[in-house]
Amino acid sequence: MAPSADRIVIENVAIATVDAQDTEYASGHIVVAGNRIESIGAGKAPEGLENVVRRVDGTGHLATPGLVNTHHHFYQWITRGLATDHNLFNWLTALYPTWARIDEQMTYAAAQGSLGMMARGGVTTAMDHHYVFPRGSGDLSGSIIRAASEMGVRFTLARGSMDRSEKDGGLPPDFAVETLEGALAATEETVKKHHDASFDAMTQVAVAPCSPFSVSTELMKQGAELARRLGVRLHTHGSETVEEEKFCHELFGMGPTDYFESTGWLGDDVWMAHCVHMNDSDIAAFARTGTGVAHCPSSNARLAAGIARVPDMLKAGVPVGLGVDGTASNESGELHTELRNALLINRLGAHKEAALNARQALRLGTYGGAQVLGRATQIGSLEAGKLADLVLWKTDGIGHASIADPVTAIVFGAAAPVTLSLVNGRPVVENGRLLHADEDAIARSTREQAQRLARIAAES
Ligand SMILES: [Zn+2]
Repeated sequence: MAPSADRIVIENVAIATVDAQDTEYASGHIVVAGNRIESIGAGKAPEGLENVVRRVDGTGHLATPGLVNTHHHFYQWITRGLATDHNLFNWLTALYPTWARIDEQMTYAAAQGSLGMMARGGVTTAMDHHYVFPRGSGDLSGSIIRAASEMGVRFTLARGSMDRSEKDGGLPPDFAVETLEGALAATEETVKKHHDASFDAMTQVAVAPCSPFSVSTELMKQGAELARRLGVRLHTHGSETVEEEKFCHELFGMGPTDYFESTGWLGDDVWMAHCVHMNDSDIAAFARTGTGVAHCPSSNARLAAGIARVPDMLKAGVPVGLGVDGTASNESGELHTELRNALLINRLGAHKEAALNARQALRLGTYGGAQVLGRATQIGSLEAGKLADLVLWKTDGIGHASIADPVTAIVFGAAAPVTLSLVNGRPVVENGRLLHADEDAIARSTREQAQRLARIAAES
């Protein structure tokens, strides 16, 4: 840390650090110097600090690590509220023809809408699994990365791909997929152009073929090889529905987890969305290999996919983070509500009221997310030396003031207002408003692009 770094001092704030011991302070301080947390602890900040550019009185607030989203499809922001009463395969079949018409302008607007809604709700690290690249649609990856960088949010682009269309027994229409060679070359180019491996990286790229039912076995295998050659992470959808399990047995003669293992897709550099239909040996395989899970409770409920066995995964030692999933299957697009939904939905499963508690839910949305994105040494908990990605939740307003424990308040209670969020030491949200984007302009452009897409899809 340069001695001359600007400092932000936050005091009189309740703190849930989400460190390994779950250390909490009823009233403490956080000193941010440059883009790092310099010190954190009980009581007031050390005296005599130089270069203090801002002092924040955190009275009536809880400070937590910024939320980390581990699964999303930004482009779906402009196809929300459609096919609302469908299961996964019927929903996909209904929407693919529309999705196949997206272009750069639409993707950029949808990314702004997705990112803006998450940032306002305390997300400091976002991710986008983008896998629809219609021919001639422009620089979609570049437009998504630009939207994240303008908003000031830390970001992982999971560069997706599909090469198994209807003619090969897959679900997407033929015109919506890439070739094997085309997908691999474009993915490598995206990694080389945008991936930053440094400690304080704002942009990272992962290799992310879409799912077993839209991707050839060769693309799975060569995608894994590509990621390992380039030293980046791997992401895909796994074990989301019973139909997918059936599909894998029919096509590959084995279940999804065995299929992933056979294609090189289990490992501590891999994380998968959903993992709803996992038996004991699947969970053991994930734990043995360190494969991570992006748990998406609202989307799983919306598509009637089932309840992921999160308590069993955690007990086995599987890294688990939270995801909103694409907003065509989770119209809210907010991650702080997923803390509550993860807790509630898992209590409907086998472990009942012992499934998850408030602190475990907060850990899923912060440290767990950092783990599955491969960034647990840098973000996900509030500790000296880590990057200054943090949120001040207002807990003394009408929604939360009568709940004594602030962690219980923000997890069990309504989504708490965000008074301040810092990403890389820089304010991104203040008093619930985005600082680096015009929310009204985004509302207008997303509506326009949603209408444009609907029109183009209807004409084709
Ligand atoms: Zn998804």
